[in-house]
Amino acid sequence: MGKVTGFKEINRHKMRRDPVEERILHYSEFEHRLNDDDAKDEGARCMDCGIPFCHSEHGCPVDNLIPEWNDLVYRGHWKQALDNLHSTNNFPEFTGRLCPAPCESACTLGITNPPVHIKSIERAIIDNAYDEGWVEPMPAPFQREQKIAIIGGGPAGMACAQQLVRAGYQVTLFEKNQSIGGLMRYGIPDFKMEKWRIERRVQQMRSEGLVLKTGVHVGLDISVSEIRDQFDVMVLAGGSEQPRDLPVPGRELRGVHFAMDFLTRQNRIIGGEEVNDPISARGKHVIVIGGGDTGSDCVGTSRRQGASSITQIELFPEPPAERTADMPWPTYPRTLKTSSSHEEGCERKWAVMTKGFKGNADGQLTAIFGNEVKFERGQFVDIPGTEFEWPADLVFLAMGFVHPVHEGMIGDLQKSGLELDARGNVKASFGTVKGSFQTTIPGVFSCGDMRRGQSLIVWAISEGRKCAAEIHRQIEAGLI
Ligand SMILES: Cc1cc2nc3c(=O)[nH]c(=O)nc-3n(C[C@H](O)[C@H](O)[C@H](O)COP(=O)(O)OP(=O)(O)OC[C@H]3O[C@@H](n4cnc5c(N)ncnc54)[C@H](O)[C@@H]3O)c2cc1C
Ligand code: SF4
Repeated sequence: MGKVTGFKEINRHKMRRDPVEERILHYSEFEHRLNDDDAKDEGARCMDCGIPFCHSEHGCPVDNLIPEWNDLVYRGHWKQALDNLHSTNNFPEFTGRLCPAPCESACTLGITNPPVHIKSIERAIIDNAYDEGWVEPMPAPFQREQKIAIIGGGPAGMACAQQLVRAGYQVTLFEKNQSIGGLMRYGIPDFKMEKWRIERRVQQMRSEGLVLKTGVHVGLDISVSEIRDQFDVMVLAGGSEQPRDLPVPGRELRGVHFAMDFLTRQNRIIGGEEVNDPISARGKHVIVIGGGDTGSDCVGTSRRQGASSITQIELFPEPPAERTADMPWPTYPRTLKTSSSHEEGCERKWAVMTKGFKGNADGQLTAIFGNEVKFERGQFVDIPGTEFEWPADLVFLAMGFVHPVHEGMIGDLQKSGLELDARGNVKASFGTVKGSFQTTIPGVFSCGDMRRGQSLIVWAISEGRKCAAEIHRQIEAGLI
C-alpha cells in the first residue's frame, strides 16, 4: 500500500483549471494534470482498506486495479503503474479526462474524508507515459485467419477492435463519419478532450494491424449481407444515436435543435471538416433543455461562441448537495453536479416543464413557455401560478438518447432474426459468462451504447473488451 498514514496527513489534490475568463476564449483543454509529486502524494492517500470498493460493482466499470497503481505511483514506479493500468483499460487518457469517476464515490476514504482523486492519478500515469515514449504499438505475434467486422468507431468499437487485433484476428472497423471516436469525437467538446488524443490511438491501432474504413455507413454504403459474407464475425457497436424529442407546439420553428446538431457542427469546425450550415450562439439567448453531460457541453460551447444569455432547464427538482438515505455509500450519488461549463456561467432552473415554443411570422423561434412542476405519485404535476415565457433565439434539446437508430443496419438485421430488448436496444446479455454480448443471430455480437443504451465511455471500453474476450472464446471453442 501507499504511505500508511497518508490518508490522515495529506489533503486531496485537485487538478488545476485555468481561470474562467481565459478559458472561455478558446476551445482547448484547460484542466492540468497533477505534477509527479502531487500524484505521488495523492497515491499515498490510498488507505489499503482491505476490500477496495473502488473496483467493486459500484466502482470502476473497466475493472481498473486502483489500489495497485496508487501504490506504484506513490513509490515512483511509473512504468509498472502504466502496465498495470493498460492491463484493464485500453484508453486511460480518455477516462482520465472524461469519466465521472464512480470509483471515487465508492472510495472507502470517502466515508469520512474527501476520497482519493483516482481519476487524476490515472491521468497522470498515462500522460506521463506518453511523455516518456512508453506507449507503443503492440502487434500480435502471429496472425489468425478469422475476419471480424466491427461497426462503429466509438470507444466500444475501438476497445473491441484493439483487443481482437492484439489477439491476432483480421479486424476491420467501419465508421460512417470521417473520423474515429464516436461521441467522444463529435459530441464531447475539445475543451473537455482535444481530439488529437483519439488520433494518436488511431495511429497506434493502425500500426498494430487494424484496417479502418471511415466514411462507410453500414446498411447504406455497404449492405449487411455483404459484411456477413465477407467476415466471420460482425460486432454492432454503433452507439445509441436516436435523440429524445420534445413534441410540443412550436417544435418545428427555426432555432430549435437537437443538442448533437449543435455540438457536432462545432467539433467538425475545430476538426477542419466542412460545415455548410453552422449554428452560432453568438449574441443569442440560449435555452438548453436537459441537465446532463450533453446539456452542460451545450452550455460551455454557447459560452465560447459568445451567447448573450444561457439558461439550462431540467424537469426534475434540484438534487441535494449531499448524499441522502436513499443513495448511501458506496453507490454513485445523484447529488448536485456543477460542471466546469456551469462554472463558466449559466442560469440553472429546476422542476421546469416546457409546454411549447413561440416564433415570428418567418418561422424563427422567439420564446419558450411553460411552468414549474412538482413530482407527485410518480408523475409531474403543474404548479398553478408559475407559468412563464422567456425570450429564446436558440433552444437545444439535450434530453438524452432513446435507443440506437433502427432504420438501416439494425432494421436489415432484424429481417435475419436480430431481436431488440424492451427499450429498443440490441438484445444481448452483459458479463463474462458464456454467450455474453452474443445477439440473437449467431456470429453477430453487440457492445457499448448500442447494447446497453446511453451510458458512459468507461462502460463502452469495458463492454468492448469483454465482447472481444467472448468472441475469442467462441472462436477457440470452435463455435464460430
Ligand atoms: C454530448 C455528450 C457528452 C458526453 N460526455 C460524456 C462524458 O463526459 N463522460 C462519459 O463517460 N460519457 C460521456 N458521454 C457518453 C459517451 O460519449 C458514450 O456513452 C460513449 O461514447 C458510447 O460509446 P459507443 O462506442 O458505444 O458509441 P458511440 O460513441 O456513439 O460510437 C458509435 C459510433 O458508431 C458509428 N455508427 C453507428 N451506426 C453505424 C453504421 N451503420 N455504420 C458505420 N458506423 C456507424 C457512429 O457514427 C459512431 O461513431 C457523452 C455523450 C454525449 C452525447
Ligand atoms: S475509469 Fe473511471 S471509474 Fe475507472 S478508475 Fe478511471 S476514473 Fe475511476
